[in-house]
Amino acid sequence: MKKLASVFLMLSMVLAVGCGSEEATAPEVVVEETVVEDEVATGEVAPEDAGEDEAVAEVAPEDAGEDEAVAEVASEETTPEEAVAEVAPEEATPEEAVAEDAPEEATPEEAIKTTYVKQVKGFGGELEVETEIVDGKIVSVTVLNHSETAGIGEPATTEMPARIVEKQSYMVDGVTGATSTSNAIKEAVRLSLEESGADLSKYEVAPEEVVLTQAETETTDVVIVGAGMSGLMAAYEIYETDPDVNFIVVEKLDKIGGSIYGTSGVMYAGDSFAHEATGTEPSTSQDILEWFEEATGEDLNDDVIHTVFSQSRSEETVDMLAEYGAPFLDTLELTTPYNEKLHYVSIDGKGTGMQAFLEKLVEENPIDIRLNTKATALLTDENAVTGIVVEDETSSYEIQADVVILATGGFGSNPEMMELYAPEYADGFIFTNPGATGDGFILTEDLNVNKVGYGTMGPIAASDKKGLIPTSFMINANGQRFVNEKTTGPFSQRAVAEQPDQIAFVIADSSAEDLTPYESAVEKGTAQKYDSIEELAKGINVDVENLTKEIEAYNLAVENNQSPGFDLPVEKATPILKAPFYAQDVTIRVNGTFTSLEINGDLQVVNADGEVIDGLVAAGELTVGNVYTKRTPGGGFGISYAGNSGRAAAQTALEMIKE
Ligand SMILES: Cc1cc2nc3c(=O)[nH]c(=O)nc-3n(C[C@H](O)[C@H](O)[C@H](O)COP(=O)(O)OP(=O)(O)OC[C@H]3O[C@@H](n4cnc5c(N)ncnc54)[C@H](O)[C@@H]3O)c2cc1C
Repeated sequence: MKKLASVFLMLSMVLAVGCGSEEATAPEVVVEETVVEDEVATGEVAPEDAGEDEAVAEVAPEDAGEDEAVAEVASEETTPEEAVAEVAPEEATPEEAVAEDAPEEATPEEAIKTTYVKQVKGFGGELEVETEIVDGKIVSVTVLNHSETAGIGEPATTEMPARIVEKQSYMVDGVTGATSTSNAIKEAVRLSLEESGADLSKYEVAPEEVVLTQAETETTDVVIVGAGMSGLMAAYEIYETDPDVNFIVVEKLDKIGGSIYGTSGVMYAGDSFAHEATGTEPSTSQDILEWFEEATGEDLNDDVIHTVFSQSRSEETVDMLAEYGAPFLDTLELTTPYNEKLHYVSIDGKGTGMQAFLEKLVEENPIDIRLNTKATALLTDENAVTGIVVEDETSSYEIQADVVILATGGFGSNPEMMELYAPEYADGFIFTNPGATGDGFILTEDLNVNKVGYGTMGPIAASDKKGLIPTSFMINANGQRFVNEKTTGPFSQRAVAEQPDQIAFVIADSSAEDLTPYESAVEKGTAQKYDSIEELAKGINVDVENLTKEIEAYNLAVENNQSPGFDLPVEKATPILKAPFYAQDVTIRVNGTFTSLEINGDLQVVNADGEVIDGLVAAGELTVGNVYTKRTPGGGFGISYAGNSGRAAAQTALEMIKE
């Protein structure tokens, strides 16, 4: 009996270290789970206060047979074979398994180490990955913690571990659309193998190279590249307008929707059911033009604005979505507090509600959408575009078309392009979708197309990418306010981008009844708490005199029932009076990019000589810089621009086919 219990303990420890090294030093925990109490009472296991060395010394007498050990370990869920597989390869005795793992000079602790936890950088932040390596075998890979995006990076956190364990290699194919997450997991496993002393070359089996077959060329009237909001709206505009027109949509990811899932699901509407319900005056494209030019201080492309934001176009887009069942709420909100004419409607369930709606739309109204199919080149004939070359998982083929609509989105997920076209924002938190890699620029590289617009869309956030602490007091590195803190995210994002070194802080006092958000930010380390303004200024390295003056002026204005400046309404101001005080670092978040292909008022792509490129139309974020630059003029203009421009591009394509 002693023999059996001792061997069992060793096995338990081998299994236990697979769950975390702390458990390995606490054998009593493992024993409690699987051995009845009176057996433990025999004192055959390591005593409670035994150190790990003692515990190891106690286990594994030489003559312990594997069968006995297996019999003892097997639980209801685990067959004996599985139990063996988890611990050691078929032929190895448990002792051998441990011995083989151990480097020559191994201490007892090292000898039984089989679990490695690594922190690696993914797409949305840090991933914590646990790899269990027993006898050179990758037994399991588990992503313990991550902040990858649901539906995009997240699937890789389960799919990649399965692939790595199956192939016993960290050089497996990544998950489509989740390259950063996939690479991070591969790196964690590589680091773990390296630490385990394994010969890395054994695990560097390159994924089998897929040789794409050459499939037959297809011919259609219109091919749409990208199935985000703009590509889908282009497709359904054709579908609704002329059922005789053939079209194909190609989408390189394994799902439709592009950026939609991450949005707040609000979209500008010139006129809508909600205007009618609330008795609100509709707005026109002229209102938009005037506001956009005032907000950005730039001379924008009037023709594109009038085409995309004509009152009827934006009303029809909302109507079309509503008719297909988009779950709009009855509310109507101002797109920005700076303009009283422009409103947005909202989707129930925000971005995820919109994503679910689009998936249902496609399911219930089938069109030819090819997922996992990437446009890799444009077919051209002299100065005209005549189709695209695509690659799917197994083949490459050409699609010849009278018109190509490019709806490939922005380039936020392409770090090189961020450095090139939006360097001020390249270090921000990038929240763009994984398909937003600037393919529209790559595909048109040889066509000599001008790029227009500059900047990114997105709000500001705390250093953990989450919301900021509640306050209406924000300062720059000089201790001075610079914007209406209650304006929409895009306005404050650009305002922060324009501050010296892009440094900004929000500051709050302790007047709020519920201090939970402040205290939990302090606990998470995203905010700091100070007993005085002097200490706070010192803590965040801001000139104390400037800050004190700024606070005094702000508090005085509020006391006199006046706006403290920058159009911040006095009723929304939050005076800084009562200690302790909280300060939080402000960071920029990037949801989309502005630099775009230049288009004309019919959304045809034009070259640097101002000539229309035959057969090529573009829509959505890929062209948004024609109407926004520097800052988004308010909330809801990204989705509505994508939807309206997709429909407008489709109308141009239909006209071109007729010619
Ligand atoms: C987190 C977040 C929040 C946002 N919030 C809002 C908001 O509340 N309101 C608002 O108005 N706007 C918001 N926006 C912006 C708005 O969502 C986008 O501007 C808009 O959805 C862009 O649509 P699109 O179709 O032009 O591009 P995308 O949505 O990027 O779609 C482009 C599609 O093309 C595919 N593609 C790219 N290259 C190829 C290729 N070579 N072959 C085949 N397919 C390809 C991509 O995989 C992608 O699916 C937000 C954006 C983000 C990321």
